[in-house]
Amino acid sequence: MTTAESGAASGCHVCGGRLEVQAGYGELTRVTSDCKPWPAGGTLGACIACGLVQKVLDARWRAEIDRIYDAYTIYFQGGGAEQAVFSPAGEALQRSERLVGELHRRGLAAEGRAVDVGCGNGAFLAALSRAMPGWSLVGTELSDKYRDRIEAIPRVERLYTGPLDEIPGQFDLVSMIHALEHIPHPVELLRSVAGILRPGGTLFIEVPDAVRNPFDLVIADHASHFTPVSLTSLLARAGYEVVSVSSEWVPKEISLVARPGGSAAVPAGHAEAGALEGLQWLLGVRDAARAVRDAQGGGAFGLFGSSIAATWLSAELAGAAAFFVDEDPSRRGSQFAGRPILAPDQVAPGSRVFIGVGGGLAPKIAARLTRDHPAVRWTAAPPEPPA
Ligand SMILES: [Zn+2]
Repeated sequence: MTTAESGAASGCHVCGGRLEVQAGYGELTRVTSDCKPWPAGGTLGACIACGLVQKVLDARWRAEIDRIYDAYTIYFQGGGAEQAVFSPAGEALQRSERLVGELHRRGLAAEGRAVDVGCGNGAFLAALSRAMPGWSLVGTELSDKYRDRIEAIPRVERLYTGPLDEIPGQFDLVSMIHALEHIPHPVELLRSVAGILRPGGTLFIEVPDAVRNPFDLVIADHASHFTPVSLTSLLARAGYEVVSVSSEWVPKEISLVARPGGSAAVPAGHAEAGALEGLQWLLGVRDAARAVRDAQGGGAFGLFGSSIAATWLSAELAGAAAFFVDEDPSRRGSQFAGRPILAPDQVAPGSRVFIGVGGGLAPKIAARLTRDHPAVRWTAAPPEPPA
């Protein structure tokens, strides 16, 4: 571990504190957030003052980000469809429907005006429109690639692609769904968001949880790797009162509700770098996958999953996986990283499959698949550090 030179280019992008650069990270293959392999060579730091684990946002990172976003494909792995999540009752829902449902259950008013900052292809706006017909909706995005699709959603006023302060009027709800982790200047952005919220308005933020999902660390275009503590601290620094922060709405993600005008007192002594333990865990996962690949006894080697974790392991194992296994029926029969995606019952007897999944799910999946498909050897990733 070395300490980065202090200075604007290498200071913490939340508090300006000094960053400790993590040895070993630069050797890891990375993955883009739209699930494409990306070469090794990143720099990961932990702020010694506020504890936020983050990318060092130097000229090299910025140049990489430009290349990644030029070629960006939303929901690449799902052919444009949003990933499914599961409600406590086991009902499959699109992530956005789940989030809107939770906001509704917690007392979101029946009518108002909402803006989704970084609205992508409009998945959250569409879910809001379906569930909350009393709301008028606005989207913002860097490009107008999905303008027609977004503006065709009922009750969407229009898509804006400029700065927030150019949007006329104010809002009762500002949402940022998987947006804040991409932002190089999150404090400044959150302060501009406060400027478009009505008094008493609600800010809703959804980001990956880097402790519950350490694979987040290898996502090249994520500037910040939040934990509930570091996200809460950021909101306090930007002048918000945090109403609730939960890791239960969507597995491996943080859902935070805040209002502008908190005490603005940043909690003292909150430095924590819990996400860094995930870096060691990732190295252990890679080694465990290599051991399964190299095990004697014949049979083909495959990887469970067909998204970020499988993309990363496949690249770290130099494409050694002959196939991928996915339980989502919509993936069955398609290709991923040039290899077939099989349903569990399509895997040949005697094959070895490594399950590199975060969130404490791997042992449960391995036990279930071993019970249902005993002729295949299913191996779970090692246990993660406690969240
Ligand atoms: Zn900091």
